[in-house]
Amino acid sequence: MKVHPVPVRDDNYAYIVQSSVDGKAVFVDPYDVPTVHKAASSLGISDDNIVGLLTTHHHHDHSGGNEKFASTFPNRPIFGGSNQIPALTNQVKDSQKLNDLLQGVEITCLATPCHTQDHICYHLSDGGENGVMTGDTLFISGSGRFFEGQPHEMLAAMDKLSALPDNTIVYCGHEYTKANVAFSAAVLDKDDLKKVVDQLKADSNAVTTGVYSIADERRHNPFMRCRDPAVKTKLTKYAEGKNLDDPATVMGLLRQLKNDGTLKANI
Ligand SMILES: [Zn+2]
Repeated sequence: MKVHPVPVRDDNYAYIVQSSVDGKAVFVDPYDVPTVHKAASSLGISDDNIVGLLTTHHHHDHSGGNEKFASTFPNRPIFGGSNQIPALTNQVKDSQKLNDLLQGVEITCLATPCHTQDHICYHLSDGGENGVMTGDTLFISGSGRFFEGQPHEMLAAMDKLSALPDNTIVYCGHEYTKANVAFSAAVLDKDDLKKVVDQLKADSNAVTTGVYSIADERRHNPFMRCRDPAVKTKLTKYAEGKNLDDPATVMGLLRQLKNDGTLKANI
């Protein structure tokens, strides 16, 4: 299995996932289809080998290329979590496996409602490598906003992603890492952020998707550490009577503080 990130729009990532067995490929959130198509061609992937599309959620910057994909590549399945997704042909649900798309690649749909109620992450495994397409649920050192859900739902989503194997590579929907790390640095210890801070210091325009694992996120992502006593201690002065022994309350407070934009540290 090979996963190729393709930058689209301002800071979105589309992806091409290709089977190492039969060379077939799927697009993930190909907002700008001509750009992703061109990237596939330059990788030597023929149009016949482009066999489907995975959509993480209905927001336009993720699903806005679906109609164009359907007209460019007719009769290919377009997967997603709700009929709010344009050109949808196959609505998927939690734990559903899509094993007939790419030979040798097991694709598992993980429902992660909160950013949107129809949000699906896709776990990919070829038996050796594994990765997860996290859309706007999990970012490197951050989480998506709770547009259609509650903190307890994001907590459940993070718990689900956190339970994936340690070496699962994270492929997220946006390059938001710099801003995320500025917030995380105000909540976590320096040591926990060293790996990602070192990457950003070496190259402030670094591509950070496809670099970090779920094990890294458990360490450098405060939204994955809502039960961590050290995180709770850091948040105490902002708690205003909230019960931080409740991890969903910690999740809600983290999101509120990140949205406020005031809690930041220099990295
Ligand atoms: Zn979104």
